[in-house]
Amino acid sequence: MKPVIALVGRPNVGKSTLFNRLTGTRDAIVADFAGLTRDRHYGNGRVGAREFIVIDTGGFEPTAESGIYREMAKQTRQAVAESDVVIFVVDARAGLSAQDHDIANYLRRLGKPTLLVANKAEGMQQGLQLVEFFELGLGEVLPVSSAHGQGVRSMVETALDLL
Ligand code: GDP
Ligand code: MG
Repeated sequence: MKPVIALVGRPNVGKSTLFNRLTGTRDAIVADFAGLTRDRHYGNGRVGAREFIVIDTGGFEPTAESGIYREMAKQTRQAVAESDVVIFVVDARAGLSAQDHDIANYLRRLGKPTLLVANKAEGMQQGLQLVEFFELGLGEVLPVSSAHGQGVRSMVETALDLL
């Protein structure tokens, strides 16, 4: 069985861009509008000889009471349940948000192997700007650029090594 990686994070951090980068398809909808990818999307990925399945999810709104956000949260929970390892994506440019804290709390309680990844990190003074993400209590944060492909390969290797 191929390992399954779930991409989780609040809307607009670049999960679908990362999904497309990992699968080499444009299957997931990449949008400038937050939260457009409302369903889970599955794709096949490969890094070197290592094959995996990746799940893209819509945005995660753990406290939403109703409507599309509640449905997106449910989809995300199902994707996490189906996965062997979670890649939790945050936005290196936007910085930490309350939603990031909510998601981190949820993931920490689950205890599933989780890799924290700061996307949109191209051209950044990484060490300094990413320090704030340690607050999430998920350890090291790995800088990547899904749009440019930087760090994506070693991100996958690091995630699969958690298994
Ligand atoms: P999602 O809602 O988490 O699936 O985010 P999307 O993949 O739809 O991307 C949201 C926005 O962030 C889009 O405008 C993307 O072009 C942009 N984006 C995604 N990855 C990167 C990146 O590595 N660098 C930069 N600068 N922008 C990115
Ligand atoms: Mg998306």
